[in-house]
Amino acid sequence: MNSRLEILVGDITQSDSDAIVNAANPTLLGGSGVDGAIHRAAGPELLEECRKLHGCERGQAKLTRGYHLKARYVLHTPGPIWRGGDKGEAETLASCYRSCLELAAEHGLETVDFPSISTGVYGYPLAQAATVALRTIMAFLDTHSLPRRVRMVCHSEEAAQVYRQTYNMWFAGEKPDRL
Ligand code: ADP
Repeated sequence: MNSRLEILVGDITQSDSDAIVNAANPTLLGGSGVDGAIHRAAGPELLEECRKLHGCERGQAKLTRGYHLKARYVLHTPGPIWRGGDKGEAETLASCYRSCLELAAEHGLETVDFPSISTGVYGYPLAQAATVALRTIMAFLDTHSLPRRVRMVCHSEEAAQVYRQTYNMWFAGEKPDRL
């Protein structure tokens, strides 16, 4: 595996990276899944700061402080809702990862942890989301020195396996004949 990318199983709210990414919704006012867990762990100050941001478009990202989290910052990015795959979902998902990484680099952040954006309530098929996530992260790391390290924090061993298999397929010489 690329020495700057890690895939692991864990709870992203416990991360001690410089920033964690929140799979938010466009209101930025909290929600279910990882979004709710991050707000609970960060405390009410996070919602207060989010209110001042007046939302965020899908595929874009906004930065806040991390408050009671170990991570100093949260990068909030609303992912696409899966609508069958031909409504620009992949472009929007790639833009989520790229926007977070650009914002992290602009702020000089060295370590960033991502959850598997859009693969919960938003219904994006995991293997397809993993392909978009890993290709976008790898392309960014190839051309930028920051962040120094990126981690995909999967919530289950099954999800981590899909990410590892996808990584191996694209980046470890096990490419299929057809995409
Ligand atoms: P979305 O609305 O973008 O689909 P969800 O929060 O429903 O967001 O799910 C996104 C992913 O985050 C899912 O794969 C889910 O398993 C995962 N997830 C949920 N809680 C956590 C957590 N505490 N740490 C890491 N990943 C989590």
